[in-house]
Amino acid sequence: MTHRVTFIPGDGIGPEVAWAARRCVEATGVRIHWEERVAGEAAIKQFQTPLPEVTLQSIRDNRVAIKGPITTPIGTGFRSVNVALRKQLNLFACLRPCRTFAGVLSPFQKVDLVIVRENTEDLYAGIEFASGMPETKRLIEEFQKSTQQPIASDSAISIKPISAGATERIVQFAFEYALANGRKKVTAIHKANIMKFTDGLFMETARRVASRYSSIAFEDRLVDATCMQLVLRPQDFDVLVLPNLYGDILSDLCAGLVGGLGLAPGANFGNDIAVFEAVHGSAPKYQGLNKVNPTAMILSAVMMLRYLNELEAAQRLEAAVSAVLREGESVTYGLKRDRNDLTSKGTSEMTDAIIERMKTVKVEKIARS
Ligand code: NAD
Repeated sequence: MTHRVTFIPGDGIGPEVAWAARRCVEATGVRIHWEERVAGEAAIKQFQTPLPEVTLQSIRDNRVAIKGPITTPIGTGFRSVNVALRKQLNLFACLRPCRTFAGVLSPFQKVDLVIVRENTEDLYAGIEFASGMPETKRLIEEFQKSTQQPIASDSAISIKPISAGATERIVQFAFEYALANGRKKVTAIHKANIMKFTDGLFMETARRVASRYSSIAFEDRLVDATCMQLVLRPQDFDVLVLPNLYGDILSDLCAGLVGGLGLAPGANFGNDIAVFEAVHGSAPKYQGLNKVNPTAMILSAVMMLRYLNELEAAQRLEAAVSAVLREGESVTYGLKRDRNDLTSKGTSEMTDAIIERMKTVKVEKIARS
C-alpha cells in the first residue's frame, strides 16, 4: 500500500532536518506518496501568507503530515503559525515522548516519559488585550466591578479559557494512549490551589475521567512541585497530561532531562488527522550549516510510521537511531562529549549513518510511542 503524506520542509533548520527524516523513511522501503507543501517564510513569498489554504487542504486530504519547524515572522498577524495550524485542523492533542538513549550525555538514565499537552485552550489561545487600548480599559472596569479586585489601569490582559469538554478529551486521550502503549500511570498537572476555577476544572475533570480507567494508576500534582520532582526523580513519571502552557514549558524541561531539544520528537493529533514535528523550533542561526541534530525529526518520523501501522519499519528506523547514538561516532557536534570534537559529523552525514545502520541493526524490542 502507498501512503499519502503532506511534507512541509519548514524554515531555518527545518528543511535540513525534515529532509533527513524523509530520507530515512524512504530508506525503510515503506511506500509513500509525498505531497510537498509550504508554510512559513517560503509560503509568504509564494502566497503572501505563512499558512496558505492549499497547505491546510493537503493535510485535510492526506490526513497525515510531517513538518519541519516554522519561524513565526513578526508582523504577519499570526501569533504563531504553528498554533494557527493546530487550531485550524483542530489538532487538540500534542504527544511528546522523552526518553534517554545510551551514548547520549544527559543528567539522567532510564527516563521514559510522555507529555500529553492540550493544544487548543489556555493562555495559549491567544486572546489578549494590549495595555492602554479602549477595549482593555473597558474590560478592566468590568472585571473590577464584578470581582471587586483592583487591576492596574495600565495592565495588559490575557484570557485563560479551560473547558470541561476539552479537558475531558485530552485526559481521555492520555488514558487511551497509556492503555494502548503499556503505560502504568497518568499524572495530571495543574495549579488548582491558586487558579481554582480554570485549573480547578482541569483537575476535577481529570479525576472524573481517571475513575473510568481502573487499570491505570492516576495522580494529580501541582505544576511547580512537578518541576522540582522532574529534575530530581524523572523516573517516577510515566504519562503526564497538562493544559497548553504548562505542557509547552514542561516539554522543553523534559527534553533537557534526556539530552536536549535535538532529541525530542512530537506529534499533534486531531480526531482523524496527525501532524508529526520535532519539539524544537527553526533555530535560524544554524540554518544551512549542516550542523544540527536530526534525531528529533527522525524520531518524529518513527512516530509517523507507527501511526501508519508500518511497525516493522518504525522499529528498524528507531533501532538504527539508537545504535548510531550509542556508538557515538557518526553524530553531530552537540552529541559529542567535547563540542569541538573534530570527528563530529554534519546533519546529512549523521542521517547517512542512520540509513546505513538500518541495513544491519537488530530489532530487539518493540519501542513505545
Ligand atoms: P529553537 O528550538 O528554534 O532553538 C533554541 C535552541 O535550541 C537553538 O539555538 C539550538 O541551540 C537548540 N536546538 C534546536 N533544535 C536543535 C537541533 N535539532 N539540534 C541541536 N540543537 C538544537 O527555539 P527558538 O530560538 O525559541 O525559536 C526559533 C523560531 O522557531 C521562532 O520563530 C519560533 O516561533 C519557532 N518555533 C517553531 C516551532 C515549531 O515549528 N513547532 C517550535 C518552537 C519554536
